[in-house]
Amino acid sequence: TRQWRLASRPTGTPTAENFDLVTVERPEPGPGEVLVRTLYQSVDPYMRGRMRDAESYAEPWDVGEPMQAGVVGEVLESEADSLEAGDVVTGNLLWAEHAVADADELRRVNPDLGPVSSALGVLGMPGITAYFGMLDVAEPTPGDTVVVSGAAGAVGSVAGQLARLSGARVVGTAGSDEKTDWLTDELGFDAAINYTETDDLAGAMAEACPDGVDAYFDNVGGPITDAVWPLLNVRARVAVCGQISQYNATEQPTGPRKLGKLVESRARVEGFLVGDYQGRWGEALERLSGFIHEDELQYREHVVDGFENAPDAFLGLFEGENIGKQLVKVAER
Ligand code: NDP
Repeated sequence: TRQWRLASRPTGTPTAENFDLVTVERPEPGPGEVLVRTLYQSVDPYMRGRMRDAESYAEPWDVGEPMQAGVVGEVLESEADSLEAGDVVTGNLLWAEHAVADADELRRVNPDLGPVSSALGVLGMPGITAYFGMLDVAEPTPGDTVVVSGAAGAVGSVAGQLARLSGARVVGTAGSDEKTDWLTDELGFDAAINYTETDDLAGAMAEACPDGVDAYFDNVGGPITDAVWPLLNVRARVAVCGQISQYNATEQPTGPRKLGKLVESRARVEGFLVGDYQGRWGEALERLSGFIHEDELQYREHVVDGFENAPDAFLGLFEGENIGKQLVKVAER
């Protein structure tokens, strides 16, 4: 069976050379464990942080060791009472075709409720991030203008639709016309800006938000945040989910300077982590699957076929190749 390991730590933008494909013996489950065959593997922006040797909320990966990933897989062998061969499960496993895991650390996925891959997207970590980040931190109310950056990605596409469901007017930013068309034509965004096609982001943002911005769900940071900042209304909320535009930077930007805007607007800027909501995942999943069932929430998955292409799928996140959740299909069920 094969695994991807961290070959070296990247400087700046990661490349294929940072990853190593190795063949290893298939592991055997011990007591309380199961052997899982990967069907889908997730690649996520936060993994860039784990390639770095620096203190953060997620531990750095060791060079020469297999890397972790969210996986949906099928139980092949079980040494645990709670799971049996054939069960579909999800959890934090490895960039690997097979992995052994403690049964207690896996969540069962019901294949009758929809595509099992969604447990890594809209009905998994990214969807839950959007749910709590939008509803708990950005707190949209009817009539608000809400801006979502990275709006055509896994988290952003769900976050924007949740703002719409809260009665807000929603404006998204994304990196191609295909993406902005998807936002406005299918997801119900009121406006969308292709940030790669405008020389005047501040002007485009002001035009899309004539009544200012009441909440900003930020996945991206950098110039898009600069364009939103002057538009923050009184008591605006800024939910800082991620800053992908900075993840490959070799020099860190200096601190935020335009804090006078916060005095004027009395706005609140708050970062959050999906991990802080661990005890409430069930509540989010129930609401999200309810919205999908009622056709209120659309989602897309960008599936790269073949385990050998996992690094390319990961690198594609920084090129904006994905619409919706980026996944690697490793095996058929
Ligand atoms: P996405 O599906 O949004 O994929 C990443 C997207 O980022 C790309 O498709 C690309 O879209 C955009 N992007 C890449 N580079 C840049 C750039 N330089 N400037 C602007 N946009 C860029 O990923 P996720 O939905 O999984 O994650 C979105 C964000 O949420 C990330 O910042 C991630 O770290 C964060 N996150 C935070 C969590 C938390 O607990 N706080 C949990 C999960 C994710 P485009 O074509 O629009 O450029």
